[in-house]
Amino acid sequence: MTELFHRVARPAILAVSRFDGLRRTAERLPVTRQVVHRFVPGETVGDALNSVEQLRYSGRLVSIDYLGEDVTDVDTANATVDAYTELLDALASRGEAAGQVRPLEVSLKLSALGQALPRDGEKIALENAHAICERAQRAGVWVTVDAEDHTTTDSTLSIVRELRADFDWLGTVLQSYLKRTHADCEDFAASGARIRLCKGAYEEPASVAYRDRDDVTDSYLRCLRVLMAGTGYPMVASHDPEIITAVPAMARENSRTVDDFEYQMLYGIRDGEQRRLADDGNHVRVYVPFGTQWYGYFVRRLAERPANLTFFLRALAERRH
Ligand SMILES: Cc1cc2nc3c(=O)[nH]c(=O)nc-3n(C[C@H](O)[C@H](O)[C@H](O)COP(=O)(O)OP(=O)(O)OC[C@H]3O[C@@H](n4cnc5c(N)ncnc54)[C@H](O)[C@@H]3O)c2cc1C
Repeated sequence: MTELFHRVARPAILAVSRFDGLRRTAERLPVTRQVVHRFVPGETVGDALNSVEQLRYSGRLVSIDYLGEDVTDVDTANATVDAYTELLDALASRGEAAGQVRPLEVSLKLSALGQALPRDGEKIALENAHAICERAQRAGVWVTVDAEDHTTTDSTLSIVRELRADFDWLGTVLQSYLKRTHADCEDFAASGARIRLCKGAYEEPASVAYRDRDDVTDSYLRCLRVLMAGTGYPMVASHDPEIITAVPAMARENSRTVDDFEYQMLYGIRDGEQRRLADDGNHVRVYVPFGTQWYGYFVRRLAERPANLTFFLRALAERRH
């Protein structure tokens, strides 16, 4: 059932979700919002800060993401910069960044900063990301650049390399389903970068990506071995028990203590496991998305797990009765 879901339903959900009409209908339904709430704590900076407080109280770190992607005009890209500025200023003024064992982090998508704009998209995204990094540096907050679909990888990694010349604490995400990622890990591990390794959440062709789930996990473990052996800071972004179980031995083999890497999971997913890892003395960071543009993020979460889709469809059906 799970294999069938990943081979058939997952690509279909991700493809169908691109239709604007469906998006508008889904966004309007109150029941969608109830289910979204499991993965997205709210729409405002205030909602995000409330979650930060609760997660910190339970000994977890956070990475806050202002939701948005695939921006098609300069004004919306500028609005994204403003939203991050507001967030970073709020974090600074509430002293959220002070006294943490590890800095707070914000995550951002370059497509939300204008990367795909037809004229000078890359340059605009670089300038916008640079402005956010400057603000983050003043607030004592780390920035990590998310990974999007494979057509953006070269552009994203080249922007990240340029930004790292000014902000050597800047991190980025690599996706183990991409066949190129082992080589990217070798490159970034040698330069001492913070790398968040995840499996990858987009629908990618076999020409560039492993499509079998076991192959993706094997690739993850191979890539993580490279990051653990390097001089950077690995961020193990996965909920997969097979991966989580492999981490302590891999860290020991590379003389890394719990301070030399961290686990990362998404808000609302395997909360008990997040707490267990934190209680055992590990650094655990929770990715907390907020904002009104939750549709793309939400669909990727539905497409990851049959149970999520079933839950959503059941809620929809109950609403009709
Ligand atoms: C901190 C963080 C940042 C990320 N950033 C990116 C990014 O920038 N780009 C990108 O492409 N992807 C990103 N992802 C998503 C990632 O690529 C995977 O799609 C996602 O994490 C599921 O893969 P998994 O390793 O958890 O393993 P899976 O094999 O998918 O899941 C393992 C187990 O985790 C639980 N689980 C996983 N997903 C869900 C879910 N949606 N709902 C409920 N339970 C679930 C289930 O128990 C499942 O059996 C990120 C993930 C994390 C944790």
